[in-house]
Amino acid sequence: MAIIPQPTLLQQSKTWQQALTEMITCPLTLLAKLDLCPQQLPWQWDPNFGLRVSESFVQRMQKGNPHDPLLRQVLSIKAESHLVNNYSSDPLKESEFNPVPGLLHKFESRVLFTFTSSCAIHCRYCFRRHFPYQNNNPGKKGWQQAFEYIEKHPQIIEVILSGGDPLMAQDDTIALFIKMLAKLPQIKLLRFHTRLPVVIPERICHSLIKVLSSSPIPIIFVYHINHPHEINQAIANGVAHLKASGITVLNQSVLLHGVNDDFDCLKKLSFALFDAGILPYYINLLDAVQGASHFAVSSNKAKMLQQALRNSLPGYLVPKFVQEIPHRSSKTPLDLVEN
Ligand SMILES: *Cc1c(COP(=O)(O)O)cnc(C)c1O
Ligand code: SF4
Repeated sequence: MAIIPQPTLLQQSKTWQQALTEMITCPLTLLAKLDLCPQQLPWQWDPNFGLRVSESFVQRMQKGNPHDPLLRQVLSIKAESHLVNNYSSDPLKESEFNPVPGLLHKFESRVLFTFTSSCAIHCRYCFRRHFPYQNNNPGKKGWQQAFEYIEKHPQIIEVILSGGDPLMAQDDTIALFIKMLAKLPQIKLLRFHTRLPVVIPERICHSLIKVLSSSPIPIIFVYHINHPHEINQAIANGVAHLKASGITVLNQSVLLHGVNDDFDCLKKLSFALFDAGILPYYINLLDAVQGASHFAVSSNKAKMLQQALRNSLPGYLVPKFVQEIPHRSSKTPLDLVEN
């Protein structure tokens, strides 16, 4: 019988709530921490979707590098203000698939539920940056409506908690949700799409592990990591605890120009994920959201990267390259995307 390694005790010098109170929101503070002068890069203030990043994530950036791939993901630059044709504020037409507040039902067997309305990081390419969260934060009162919708659609077998980041919710809120959801026998799987444990590793704490490990519904975590520099020992420790509780941990990335659109980087990312106990799941082509066009990678280049990875890695370390095309019944494999 295989011996499952037991992760060592989670040693955390602060709580995730404390880390949240120490978020960096001023670009000048961020640049000073990185020994960069404001003249070195075309940064700008964004009053609507401002800078938000944790101290821990900033510590993983390289000092003195204005092109740091982690910095590029969080610092607003002037190129965001260029209006580009074909880029919109709702590229996925999500408002058409929103039957009750907070619920997105696009793919037959699974629904996506916006569980919270905030994140511990503001990713500049985020396709939800223009999403009307105010009208779509159902809160506990709205859960009942979502559960009723699910019961009327017995083909739904999985609930995906998304956001905002679902782990921004308190542990007792998550516990209550799981307890109520478990009353629907049709639900076989519960998935969390989360970036919080990457941004604030302390989020994987004993109390969360306790809540998740007592779930009668199997749980899958899909992390969101784009670059190998995002991964460190604290993240691997958290994953070890999740896995010891029977949780499957996968990762999705977004293919981003200037961040991870090169073969070496993607290859390193797959290995770094594997070393941290995570398997690559998806790499999403950028959604055409207004303000993110400087991150776009052509589908031609994406296809070349995909083939190069297929040639040099075992199949299970190659993420599925996909694009979200509105009105399709699943994500579209890149092989079927026209150039
Ligand atoms: C991506 C997504 C899902 C999950 O799709 P999988 O292929 O099962 O990972 C579900 N609903 C919506 C709205 C999505 O965007
Ligand atoms: S963590 Fe996800 S939802 Fe939140 S800003 Fe980043 S990409 Fe958007």
